[in-house]
Amino acid sequence: MIETMRGPLADDNLGATLMHEHIFGLSPEVHWNRPDLPEEWEIERRALEAATRLNEIKALGIDTIVDLTVIGLGRFIPAIERVAEQTAVNIVVSTGIYCADTLPPYFGNKGPGSLFGGEDRMVEFFVRDILEGIGDTGVKAAMLKCVVEHAELNADIERLVVAISRTHELTGTPITVHTDARTQSGRAAYHALAKRGVAPDSIIIGHAGDSTDVDYLSELADRGLWLGMDRFGIESVSGEERIATVVAMCERGYAERMVLSHDAYSFNDRVDSAIVAVRHPNYHYAHISRDVIPELRRRGVTQAMIDRMMVENPQTILSS
Ligand SMILES: [Zn+2]
Repeated sequence: MIETMRGPLADDNLGATLMHEHIFGLSPEVHWNRPDLPEEWEIERRALEAATRLNEIKALGIDTIVDLTVIGLGRFIPAIERVAEQTAVNIVVSTGIYCADTLPPYFGNKGPGSLFGGEDRMVEFFVRDILEGIGDTGVKAAMLKCVVEHAELNADIERLVVAISRTHELTGTPITVHTDARTQSGRAAYHALAKRGVAPDSIIIGHAGDSTDVDYLSELADRGLWLGMDRFGIESVSGEERIATVVAMCERGYAERMVLSHDAYSFNDRVDSAIVAVRHPNYHYAHISRDVIPELRRRGVTQAMIDRMMVENPQTILSS
C-alpha cells in the first residue's frame, strides 16, 4: 500500500505516474506580511485551479502525481487537501528539506556541530511526517527529498543527507535527490547516500534529465539508481534535447531505470507566471501526455518502454 492524500492505495492502482511535480509553491513569510500579494494567493480559487489542471491530465491518462514540495518550498497540506477533494488524480506527498547550501535556520541552528547545539530535529520531523502524518492532517508522506548540488557536500548538506538516510533506514521510504546536471552531482548524491547504507534502487537522481550526457546517465543507471527525466517543459534544456536524451537512453536499454515528469507547479509565487508562459510555454502537467509521449513513439520508443517509465518504475519505487 502507498500513502496518498486520500489514504493508502494499493500499489497496482497507482497507474501512470508523474514522479516529480508540485502543486503549490508558497512563501508563507511573505504572505503573512503582504496578504495582498500581487500573485494573488487564495486557497479556494487556487485549489480549484489546480484540481482543474489535474483533471485535465486524468483525462489524458495520468492517474497519480508525486508532489515533491517539502520544507523550504512552502508545503501546506491543508491546501492540497482542498485540491485532492476536487480531483480523481492520486496525490502522493513527500517530506524532507529543499535548500541550496544552507539548512533552514530552524534546523541548521540546532543539532550537533551547530552554533547553538542541542538535538538535531530533522529525523524526528521526517519520521513523524511518514508514520503519523503531516501537521494534524493525518496525511502521510511517501517520498523523501534532499538536495545535493555540488561534488563536495558542505556541513549542512552532509547533515541533511545523514538525516534523510537515517529516516530511510527507519521507514524504508524512497528518496528523490535534487541534483545539478552541470556539476553531475548525481555521483556525489549516490556516494553520500550509499555510504549511509541506502541502496541505489531507493534513490531517484532528480533532474538527471537536465543532462544530455548519456555516458553520465548510463553510469548512474548502471549503479542501479533511478533517473529523474523530470523537467520536461523547462527550457534550460530544449524539449528536443530532453526527448533525444530519453530516446538515446531507451536505445541503450535504460527505459527500466527512467521516470518522466515536469517539475511543474499549478501555482508558484516564486515565479512570474506571465513570463514563464512566454519563456517556457510547455512547462505544465500536460506536456508529457500531449507532446512528449507521442514524439517518443514516433522515434521508436515502444509502448512497453513507455509503460515501464510511466507505470511500472513508479510502482516499483513507491512500493519498495
Ligand atoms: Zn521540484
